[in-house]
Formats: sequence, structure tokens, C-alpha cells
Amino acid sequence: MRKQLLLTPGPTPIPPEVALAMAKPIIHHRTSEYRAIFEEVIKGLKYVFQTENDCFVFASSGTGAMEAAVVNLLSPKDKVITVQGGKFGERWTEICQSYGIEPSVIDVPWGEAVEPERIAEILEKDLRIKAVFTTLCETSTGVVNDVKKIAQITSKHKAVLVVDAISALASIELRTDAWGIDVVVAGSQKGLMLPPGISFLSISPKAWALVNEAKCPRYYFDLREAKRSLDKMDTPFTPAVTLVIGLREALQMIQKEGLENIWKRHALMAEATRKAVLALGLELFAPHAPSDAVTAVKVPSGLDGENLVKLLRQKYGVSIAGGQAELKGKIFRIAHMGYITPEDILLVISCLEIALNEMGYKVPLGKGVKAAEEVFGKG
Ligand SMILES: *Cc1c(COP(=O)(O)O)cnc(C)c1O
Repeated sequence: MRKQLLLTPGPTPIPPEVALAMAKPIIHHRTSEYRAIFEEVIKGLKYVFQTENDCFVFASSGTGAMEAAVVNLLSPKDKVITVQGGKFGERWTEICQSYGIEPSVIDVPWGEAVEPERIAEILEKDLRIKAVFTTLCETSTGVVNDVKKIAQITSKHKAVLVVDAISALASIELRTDAWGIDVVVAGSQKGLMLPPGISFLSISPKAWALVNEAKCPRYYFDLREAKRSLDKMDTPFTPAVTLVIGLREALQMIQKEGLENIWKRHALMAEATRKAVLALGLELFAPHAPSDAVTAVKVPSGLDGENLVKLLRQKYGVSIAGGQAELKGKIFRIAHMGYITPEDILLVISCLEIALNEMGYKVPLGKGVKAAEEVFGKG
């Protein structure tokens, strides 16, 4: 017998209510029945994005929505800023370069947040910059960037701010309109508690002004077509009907719990996780700006991080993530985004203690669990 606990930064666990909604017989999408569901979903998305802006749904992983942002706002040879402090920040640079767009890259040491002033400096020097691309939660390093402050800077310039909130949406604080973010992209398989397969994009009036002049090639992701359809509560192409139906259920759960309560729950899970690993003598990878959606932990020297992740998955049925790219084997990441509650955290910490001991890194059994229990006990 084998139970599986999924604590990876996407996919994340699916609540039974959502899974059951998706198990029902599929319906056709050009029907009043589907349109009513889609309308409810768009309304719910605006709540989760905290925006009055148009919200679009694509049948793609999160990266598709990132590409949609780039191709709809820009033309080849346009100047932009990309913030690179991890694998997903790098993706902005790569997508832009694929379309001949010229990024000024702000390189941030992995594990640190970007200093917003660095963005201000470039914007003041180079008035041609059309867009700033950054990441709210840099999932590869467990860092949260100060997007609120970055938005204060971009709102004083003609450049639009594009934020990858793929792992942040419905996990950590994100206020699209109140902060003044022009474009937010997200995906289904993180805080939204759905399987992978759909992505989202919200866009402000300031950014819409760029859509018509943008000369990047686009077809599936053309927001002009998508907008014509959205105004009739429709999509230009076949939507991922099943996932949208699951999304309606997930959004109902989110609205019932309340976004601020969800942010608080994530903060509590994150605090318990951080205190637990510190109690075990481990070090956080991003101690200065840790995200409440995922905790990145340094692998103690002498241990192989990939083996630790493998042992936890294969022997204990607990899936966490290792490091990506240059961090492979050097960190492990415990995600606590979406459908995650204290018992999940207590279980992963407990199994982590056993696995570390088994690999020869001796930690007192129960010490991390105790630290987490103390956080939950006061909560
Ligand atoms: C997961 C993730 C992505 C990539 O999304 P895909 O769905 O794999 O395309 C991009 N950015 C961040 C911050 C993520 O966490």
C-alpha cells in the first residue's frame, strides 16, 4: 500500500470537491450552460487577482501565459527590463530574446530579492524601456520580490509592469489593482489547486494600449481575438472545459475561505516549515526574503540533495522538490501552496527527520516537528 503526499511547487494536491467536479460527463462549450460557468469563473478570477481588469484563460501551462504577455505587448527590437534571480526570471529573458526583444537583464544573486531601486535606475536612464518583467514568488529559489514597491516605480514611467504570479496567486499577497500591476500571469497547478493545463492573464488599460501596436507574431495567444470572444463570454478556440469546471469549484472554495485568510494560512504553513528546518540545524536558502508559498532549504554539506528527495518520495511517499539548474543537489524545496494544511507540514517534517538520519545526517527525532507544532499550537 502506498499513500502519496504531494508538496512540490506545482503540481499541488487537488481537493476532492474539485476532482469530483471534473469527473462529471463533459459538456459542449458553445452552450449557455458552459457560458454561465465561464462567467462565474471570470468573476472568481477577478477576485483572486484582485482586479477589475480583463482576465483571460488559455489552454496552456503557465509559460504560455508568459509568452502571451510578451507577444501581445511588444515588437522585435523593443527594449525591456527582465529581473533574473532564478530559473523563472531567466524564462522572461529567454522568451523576450526568442522574439528579438532586447532585455536589460538585472542579475540578482539566487536566493536574494531584487532591489527595486535597480529597476528605477534603468528606467530613468533609458526612456525607451517599454516593459518590466519580474516574478512575485521565484519558485526556484523560494524568494518573494517586493512587487508592491516595484509597481510604485513603474507607475511613474511609461513602461508597463508584467508579473509572473504563477506560484503566488492564491498563495501569497497579490493586489493587482491596488498595487498597480499592469499584467499578471498565473497557472492552474499551484495555489489554485487544479491539475496543470490552464493559464491566466490579466491586463490593465495602460497595457492594452500596447497590444495594438505590438508587432510580434501571435495567433493562439492574440489578445485582440480573445477579447472579442470574452465580451460574449466565449473563447476563440476550444477551452479546457474540464479544467474550467474544476476551476469554478476551486474558486468557490477560495471565495468561501477568503483570500486574506488564505494568505494567512500560507504564512502559517511557511512559518512552521521554516522554524522546523531551522530547529534541525538546517539553513534557509532565502533567509532575507522567504516566500510563504515555498521554502527552499540548503542541503547539509556531504549529503546529496537529489538522493534525499528520492528517498523521501520512494520510501516515505512524500514528494518535495530538489533544486533546479545551478541549485541541483544543493537545495530542497518544500512547497506549501494551495490545498495544504498543518497535518501535511507535520508529516513532511517528520519524514524529513527520519530520512536525514537514514542518510547519516543525525538530527534529534521530533525536534523539527516540535518546532512546527509550537507554531500551529499558538495559531
Ligand atoms: C511553475 C512556474 C512557472 C512555469 O509554469 P509552467 O506551468 O511549468 O509553464 C513559471 N513561473 C513560476 C514562478 C512558476 O512557479
